[in-house]
Amino acid sequence: MTARANLLDFTLPRLTEWFAEQGEKAFRAKQVFHWIHQRGVGDFDAMTDLAKSLREKLRERAEVRAPAILSEQRSADGTVKWLFDVGIGNGIETVFIPEDDRGTLCVSSQVGCALDCKFCSTGRQGFNRDLAVGEIIGQVWMANRRLEELGAARLPAEDTQAEAEYRRPVSNVVMMGMGEPLNNFGPVVDAMSIMLDDHGYGLSRRRVTLSTSGVVPQIRRLKDALPVALAVSLHAPNDAIRSRIMPVNDAYPIAALLDACRDYLEVAPRDFITFEYVMLKGVNDAPDHARELARLLEAVPAKVNLIPFNPFPDSGFEGADMERVRRFQKILIDAGYVATVRKTRGDDIDAACGQLAGQVVNRMKPKAVRFHSPQPRS
Ligand code: SAH
Ligand code: SF4
Repeated sequence: MTARANLLDFTLPRLTEWFAEQGEKAFRAKQVFHWIHQRGVGDFDAMTDLAKSLREKLRERAEVRAPAILSEQRSADGTVKWLFDVGIGNGIETVFIPEDDRGTLCVSSQVGCALDCKFCSTGRQGFNRDLAVGEIIGQVWMANRRLEELGAARLPAEDTQAEAEYRRPVSNVVMMGMGEPLNNFGPVVDAMSIMLDDHGYGLSRRRVTLSTSGVVPQIRRLKDALPVALAVSLHAPNDAIRSRIMPVNDAYPIAALLDACRDYLEVAPRDFITFEYVMLKGVNDAPDHARELARLLEAVPAKVNLIPFNPFPDSGFEGADMERVRRFQKILIDAGYVATVRKTRGDDIDAACGQLAGQVVNRMKPKAVRFHSPQPRS
């Protein structure tokens, strides 16, 4: 017997195709897509407007399978962190950050990461595997269901096309959990297209942000495939420093990266790129670095998000002093930039940047290792 299809793996066009293969009409696929993504229903028997025979057929041939929740932690400030099971020895993390006017979900794209940024615990611990579409969108699907159980507010998403009745607690998604989303290109694009689909979650392109360490050819591919809001992990004002802390810079140096960013803005849903900059003591936090960064970013409409470093064991780095961070921020602001310092949320449950802890079996290194992953917030 062939395995049952996981309908969470399918975009609406793919689901429609699959329905055709089963001898079913396209509008039935749409109905089922609504049940799954707009109403959060995974049980075919609860899909009451489908004929009994179709429900039976679906039960036999398909399933709605999201990764199971291994643990859930809730912070006093409303932040919720889940550890999801993605196979023996592997966990991925997803964080929900509620704010007055939005609910942001930070979603993972890979189990571990191969890019080896020196300040990142996910990078430190290596790469295991890419997540499937159903494991990526499954984080959104599960989070919405769980948050509704917990009674989270359905926040107004004024620019969504989805009907108000089906608004869900997650109004924004940031692809800033574990992994480099552009290195798992196809599944990430499919999952994001389900987020954007009016028959799915109905999020506008402005409400979905992809964060990348700067994989230049893939930024160009994303521009053509699905130009959502873009955040770029820059972290340095010049190639010398960047190459020291981000090996990916050797393949795609800053000039090439900024070129790709400029081109991306032709189709981006926002008129700036968000540059993330983690403040590392004695590495990239000097006033001269701020001035150099201000000059560098003249080339691209930019917003800068300064991120306090979240330490992990044996990282070899320390976070910059707050006074230094403020000084850095002021230099950027005086140069005419919008520069923010990322707030730390969910402190009491270790859900802040670089503090997400999980377990990954690293395929690049021989043994199971404990790790902390980077994290959200834009
Ligand atoms: N791989 C993608 C997205 C995930 S990382 C990327 O690199 O952009 C999300 C953000 O957290 C990135 O900006 C990353 O550089 C940052 N980050 C990684 N480790 C961190 C740490 N220890 N402290 C603070 N931010 C960190
Ligand atoms: Fe991978 Fe991003 Fe961490 Fe770099 S910062 S190792 S790209 S997850």
